[in-house]
Amino acid sequence: MKKELPVFESWPFKVPSINVAIKKIDNLTKQLKEASNAKEAIRVVKMHIKFSDALQNDITNISVHYSIDTRNERYKKATEVIDNGFPRIQAAELEFTKAFLDSPFKAELENRFGSFIYKIFEYQMKSFSNEVVEEAIEENKLMTQYSALIASCKVNFRGSTYNLPQMGKFMEDVDRATRKEASEAYYSYLETRVDEIEEIYDKLVKVRTRMAKKMGYSNYVELAYIKMNRFDYTKEDVAAYRDEIQKYVTPIASRIMKKNFRRNKIYRPKVFDMGLYFKEGNPIPKGTTLDKIEAARKIYDTLSEETSFFFSYMADHHVMDLEAKEGKNSGGYMTYFPVYKIPFIFSNFNGTSGDVDVLTHEFGHSFQAYMARNIKVPEYRSPTMESCEIHSMSMEFFAEPYMDLFFDEPDKYRYVHLADSISFLPYGATVDEFQEWVYLNPTASKQDRDAKWHELELKYTPYKVATYKGCPYMMGGHRWLTQAHIFECPFYYIDYTLAQVMAFQFFNLDRKNHEKAWFTYLKLCAMGGKYPFRTLIKKCHLKDPFKQGCIKKTITPLVKVLKSYNF
Ligand code: ZN
Repeated sequence: MKKELPVFESWPFKVPSINVAIKKIDNLTKQLKEASNAKEAIRVVKMHIKFSDALQNDITNISVHYSIDTRNERYKKATEVIDNGFPRIQAAELEFTKAFLDSPFKAELENRFGSFIYKIFEYQMKSFSNEVVEEAIEENKLMTQYSALIASCKVNFRGSTYNLPQMGKFMEDVDRATRKEASEAYYSYLETRVDEIEEIYDKLVKVRTRMAKKMGYSNYVELAYIKMNRFDYTKEDVAAYRDEIQKYVTPIASRIMKKNFRRNKIYRPKVFDMGLYFKEGNPIPKGTTLDKIEAARKIYDTLSEETSFFFSYMADHHVMDLEAKEGKNSGGYMTYFPVYKIPFIFSNFNGTSGDVDVLTHEFGHSFQAYMARNIKVPEYRSPTMESCEIHSMSMEFFAEPYMDLFFDEPDKYRYVHLADSISFLPYGATVDEFQEWVYLNPTASKQDRDAKWHELELKYTPYKVATYKGCPYMMGGHRWLTQAHIFECPFYYIDYTLAQVMAFQFFNLDRKNHEKAWFTYLKLCAMGGKYPFRTLIKKCHLKDPFKQGCIKKTITPLVKVLKSYNF
């Protein structure tokens, strides 16, 4: 009989011993190397999976507890143990992977665990080497420096000081004078930090390039594509895809923005007018956190049997920590406990429509984890980044018909959500082409980089550049300096746009044939990461975003939907 999983608060809090874990992994590596037959090798690999799941379960438990209460000494100490010990565990794990790849029982292992695992492990081996440990440490330090610098930013505004995210609400205020004043304070402050941020980036570009060269790649772009596990598309595919965005989406995004300005009677738009869709403000959800959870429960009860069961299962096990509170980390995430087979959603509700996005987007990620919970090989449970975001972004659209539960004027939310999602594509392409250029030209000066950014903004989002007059920071090509991904996860950005295009396809299909759309979504979620991105899409009979014409076909129906709202 299987034991029923207790609620989150009563899960045991265990801190694994790093030395014991390493010894265990080393021992499994030795056993795999010494296995005299295929049956024995398979048994060792299975033991390794069981061990990794248990270790991951403990580590996840620590990081979740710490993020909920960063002041708790016990959680803090446990986090330190993991932070310091994890690189050593990784090194031991790499040896196990190597033994797996070198095993003489390849045919039998492939037969048991699938051939795709070989590809995944091969990429793992190709993405790191002991020769670049020093560079990796330096890269980590620089990334920490960047996030510390951004977190330390303090903007003086109307007698108080605010951090960068806190300035957001003033910069989108319904009162234009407030927006103007806030935006001037924000950008003139950032202007004072430009040199420091550019310096950090310059060092990051150089250290990443050094890493790539040491490992035998001709530039960092090649290494980054391997690190991102891009098994089935190249930078040439991505370049052609960006062109399609520029050709078909840029004009639509431009019309969306111009329409906003007209609706709000803004005739000479400035940089601080871009975020506001409606004169009376952007839509805000009603009710308390509990009201929102109850609304979400109703949505998922109606949507399908699977979502109904699973949302209640999560709520009943208290695996959602949604409200902002003292001592909690910032941001939001979804993580997964492989032994308990349950995900966890963490967020900081702040009363904006972002709260609703947590209950749809993060629930989409969680739901996928649930659908793939019985996949034995951990590497197959969830796919690469661009595919993971399909699960979450599509769920945002599946939940859209029920938005009256959250908003008094649900169409306003639907309009903003769709318009924002479309407008995101050209920006995503800008970020991607910029990074590609940077790493193909690693010796370019800081001025060259800013000039390139400005040039790419003119290419993809000229309607934005038209509002920059009077804002030296934006005119100087500095917008990218606060885009954390460029510093912290290079080349992870086009993934969001790819997933967005796939989520649009689900939205289009859902409006035509809900049953079919939902069935396809379930299938995609259940496949987890058993296949690379383009194969997953193919198996679901969806359109490949890299194929010419896909973007146009996907976006055209959306323009009609936007028009139908009559805003
Ligand atoms: Zn996501």
